Amino acid sequence: MFRRKRGNICGLWDCNKRIPDDSFLCDAHYEAWVSGIIDRCPKCGRFKEVMYRLCLDCYVGRPVAQWEPSVMIPTQKKDYRVEYSDAWIDGYMELERFFVYIVEFDEGNFHVGHTKDMRKRLSEYRDDKTSPSSGRNPKLQYLQLIATEKAAELREAELKRLIESNPDQIRLMISEFHRHMREFGLEE
Ligand SMILES: [Zn+2]
Ligand SMILES: [Zn+2]
Repeated sequence: MFRRKRGNICGLWDCNKRIPDDSFLCDAHYEAWVSGIIDRCPKCGRFKEVMYRLCLDCYVGRPVAQWEPSVMIPTQKKDYRVEYSDAWIDGYMELERFFVYIVEFDEGNFHVGHTKDMRKRLSEYRDDKTSPSSGRNPKLQYLQLIATEKAAELREAELKRLIESNPDQIRLMISEFHRHMREFGLEE
């Protein structure tokens, strides 16, 4: 038995934020939908990041929680939509995409940023002796793939605000991130 998602929960595949009865997404994800960063999963009808053809639940064949919108979902404005390509997911094509990340340093300080090359950014943190954050054993604690730099900047600012205003929410996101990493076999 899966938990049944009702229409008053955000329709994004892994967002459980409660929303008013006349909405189908939480505020942040409604913005993302209007900007063309998310669209609907053709298999389960919930919302997912545009760069993936299916939501991650459908993609890995995980059971999908029921979700029914409580309102009619209007057609997404085509002019804002980011194009999907099959090649993206396989990494054959150089695509415009940004990683918004949280790293934690030894002393438990969080640092939020965005980059096109996560591997390079992490080695910069480790090696750049001129940076105040260098050599402090950066641990990647959260990573999100975002389709445009503008959206990545907005998300970075949002995360910086959250670290100040709601550290519990950040802790939750970090443990979810590691849970997904373990599920995909990327972490012990
Ligand atoms: Zn949401
Ligand atoms: Zn799906």
